[in-house]
Amino acid sequence: MEYKRLPLGIYQANCYIIWDGESRKAAVIDPGGDFEELKMFIENNGLNVEYIILTHGHGDHIGAVSEVKKYYNAQILIHEDDYEMLKKSEKNYSSQMGYKKVEIEADKKLNHGEIIRVGNVSLEVIHTPGHTRGSICIKCENKIFSGDTLFAGSIGRTDLEGGSFEQIIASINEKLLVFSDDTEVYPGHGPSTTIGTEKKYNPFLKV
Ligand SMILES: [Zn+2]
Ligand SMILES: [Zn+2]
Repeated sequence: MEYKRLPLGIYQANCYIIWDGESRKAAVIDPGGDFEELKMFIENNGLNVEYIILTHGHGDHIGAVSEVKKYYNAQILIHEDDYEMLKKSEKNYSSQMGYKKVEIEADKKLNHGEIIRVGNVSLEVIHTPGHTRGSICIKCENKIFSGDTLFAGSIGRTDLEGGSFEQIIASINEKLLVFSDDTEVYPGHGPSTTIGTEKKYNPFLKV
């Protein structure tokens, strides 16, 4: 598995491109904007984008979804609990966040435990509600792409529609901190971290 982080869009949300080095098949996680920049990376590396995987439906993570879908004929995947959010710009906040409105239908609804195959690379869906009802993390080998659930030293906000502080803490404790300390974490904003570092230093997770 190979990957690249590209902070995109006006909120610089981390977009991650994940691919199988042999077949060059790829998945794009959270294309938040700046399609031209993303496209240039994809072309320069000869990748075939098969999937757009959304960690959740918020405007700062979906700004370039329509363009990626159209250009590469890629399938949009989102957890079933954020499926409706993607269809309405008032629900995904794309109209309020200073973007053009994003209103698009996903091709497939994801469920907890599902495996997405990109060539020889397997991506596992972990449902982690709390930031939104349908927030997910994607696990691949020893890496977790954590969306807006877990950040280095912080957690996602829970004051928006569908958010719950109790739920996000439970999601992180029960579904993320169960992995070994050396598991790498790649959040939707900011730098990467590890499960061990967050267990030890994240002020929201201290018991
Ligand atoms: Zn968000
Ligand atoms: Zn975000």
